[in-house]
Amino acid sequence: MNSIPLVDLAAQHAAVAREVAEGWQQVLATCAFIDGPQVAAFESEYAAFIGTRHCVGLANGTDAIEIALRALGIGPGDECILPANTFIATAGAVCRAGATPVLVDCADDGTYLIDVAAVEAAVTARTRAIIPVHLYGQAAPAERLMPIAERIGAVLVEDAAQSQGARRNGMAAGALGHAAATSFYPGKNLGAYGDAGAALTGSDDVATRMRMIKNHGSARKYEHQLVGVNSRLDTLQAVVLSAKLRRLADWNAGRRAAAARYDTLLAELDEVARPRTLDGNEHVWHLYVVRVPDRDQVLKELQAAGIGAGIHYPVPIHLTEAFAGLGQPEGTFPVTEQASRELLSLPLFAEITAAQQERVVSVLKSALG
Ligand SMILES: *Cc1c(COP(=O)(O)O)cnc(C)c1O
Repeated sequence: MNSIPLVDLAAQHAAVAREVAEGWQQVLATCAFIDGPQVAAFESEYAAFIGTRHCVGLANGTDAIEIALRALGIGPGDECILPANTFIATAGAVCRAGATPVLVDCADDGTYLIDVAAVEAAVTARTRAIIPVHLYGQAAPAERLMPIAERIGAVLVEDAAQSQGARRNGMAAGALGHAAATSFYPGKNLGAYGDAGAALTGSDDVATRMRMIKNHGSARKYEHQLVGVNSRLDTLQAVVLSAKLRRLADWNAGRRAAAARYDTLLAELDEVARPRTLDGNEHVWHLYVVRVPDRDQVLKELQAAGIGAGIHYPVPIHLTEAFAGLGQPEGTFPVTEQASRELLSLPLFAEITAAQQERVVSVLKSALG
């Protein structure tokens, strides 16, 4: 019985293996492991791809959120509004910046994206940032959040870790706010061969601050204007990212075709709630997330059949031990909480075959009994 992984990194690697090997040979020949010219090259390629002025390569996506916030002057005493339905890093990075995360529920419309009305309701005199997460590969409605941010003098910082190449009303996710953060964790739509990330902004001043913060608070060697961190994009990773970026549009198209095929295959299964795409969105399907009854049992049966289904995310942030201090018990965010019990991510990657998808759906069907 052939197993079907949630993501297939081997297939992706095969497509860029030669290019990466040649690029790495050049890095090895020059030993420019830190800040080699390949880093600046990737930064400008990615900025052009997103359509923003600046891309600052960083060590990972979590640092990117923290550094974007700090570069915008967010710190202790400031509140940042973010969705409870996201990877924990979004909230963790706010804390690392010294600010206070304020969680809100996700919309009850099948998108699982941040609820704009809940953001309105969570605004206080201390709100300094709104952090929408472009979850599962589609953009949150940033054009509805920007007016709120502007009205209260806050900034919009996008968590674009799951949305490389996604567009909203023609604009790229990552270019919809004052700054954005993205992750090149291997399983993301654009993935490195280890940890990597980037912060994006259209502002020269903010970009300058991002570059200082990621480099020990220094614009020039041994001059330190503030206490920064060490968070650099490795030259070796930049080589991988440049090679993969050239194929990202094709890969995203492959994911889109696979998502459309799941939509068709699942249409006959009444128990399965399919994902919904917000009007105006060009989705890049980082994950294909359905809702099913008796999810844990269904997941067990899929896994027993060798199908790498997953859950994103099984425990909402406010119910983790790490954020118990927020004092928000079960029942605080009912949409997110119900989703955490029913969501199921099906295998999805550019190279998945029709036969593999048919097998996923047939096992799913029998698991639903
Ligand atoms: C992956 C991810 C991050 C964190 O990125 P790392 O590179 O793993 O630090 C942050 N937010 C979201 C929504 C993510 O999916």
